[in-house]
Amino acid sequence: MKEENCGMVNVTKGQGENLTELFNVEYKNRTGFQAFFEKVKGKRIAVLFDVNTKPYAREMIEQLKGRGCHVTEVYYPDVELVPTEDKCDFGYEKAKGSEYLLAVGSGTLNDMTKSVSTRLGVPCGVLATAASMDGYCSKGAALMRGGMKVTDTVHTPEDILIDPDIIKKAPKRMTAAGFGDIIGKYTCLTDWRLSNILNGEPINNQAFELMEMALSDCVGDFEALTKYDGDAVCKLMNALITAGTSMAICGNSRPASGSEHHQSHFLEMDFVRRGEKIPMHGLKVAIGTLVSMELYNYLRSCDVGIPQRERIWELVDELPKIDSIKEMLEKMGCPTRFSALGVRRETMEEMIEKAYTVRDRYTVLTFIHELGLTESVKPILMEKYY
Ligand SMILES: [Zn+2]
Repeated sequence: MKEENCGMVNVTKGQGENLTELFNVEYKNRTGFQAFFEKVKGKRIAVLFDVNTKPYAREMIEQLKGRGCHVTEVYYPDVELVPTEDKCDFGYEKAKGSEYLLAVGSGTLNDMTKSVSTRLGVPCGVLATAASMDGYCSKGAALMRGGMKVTDTVHTPEDILIDPDIIKKAPKRMTAAGFGDIIGKYTCLTDWRLSNILNGEPINNQAFELMEMALSDCVGDFEALTKYDGDAVCKLMNALITAGTSMAICGNSRPASGSEHHQSHFLEMDFVRRGEKIPMHGLKVAIGTLVSMELYNYLRSCDVGIPQRERIWELVDELPKIDSIKEMLEKMGCPTRFSALGVRRETMEEMIEKAYTVRDRYTVLTFIHELGLTESVKPILMEKYY
């Protein structure tokens, strides 16, 4: 890969002195993960991986051993690893005595590793195997406990290792989900501005601009992304990590989560309640983004007493066209109707009514509710997105 790829780290890390200490995000270039290997050489390291990530783990373990590390393998033979207490306990017992934990995987393995390393009181890192979600460096770990989904507060990985040759080969649906998560930043950032206009909610410019820049960088290289070009997948990955950085700067998830995420959370709770398999986060967010964009456009077409209408019309006009986003999602293999993800009709109807209640955060869903437009917009949303 080209040397320039490493420059992308600067998008995440170079925006002001205070950011440089957040995470060590290292892209593999000709010299490998230099800083990381330097840091862990000679240490006792536990490597957590599953059957899908085994080949990458094997290679990494060899590299670590070659640098004098004592490696403990924490192997999960699962094709679809579920982060239950038992699985975490297994990791905890195996990894005891290690000085550093490295996940080789994406969402689930990273969350489990964050959780186990927090319990053990040692640092962790991840060799990312897919640009699939924006939680790599989040303080939350989504785990299953007693059949319920819980989000534990954990410490963030110190190192995020990205090898374009690995992430470009990830299952296409995972990359599609990562792209969906990033596309969601359009409505998420618009919701933030909406709340700023209507409620005076402050906008952290640094976090906002960082996210916006990474989003446009990723979308700007869309054609190459559809071909799973290494540089383009890295830009997607960079945007996903930037979401974490922006949240860290802001101190909350406002820069990365708006109405599209609230819809996803609402649906997720229903899947959990029913004990059904939860569709990938980014895939739900992608369709939620279309719904939220539709809501903004609906506002524009309604002639009700809308406060600050000129400023809000500006927001709507600045959003990309729904059709162009839909086309991009389709090209990446993201479904554009909730029915395709196994969502029940009545659940989507309920989501339109209630998703604004899942977080105490003002979004276009709250606005539509306050204006009393929920019932009138519902049939339009059902027809287009169910
Ligand atoms: Zn997300």
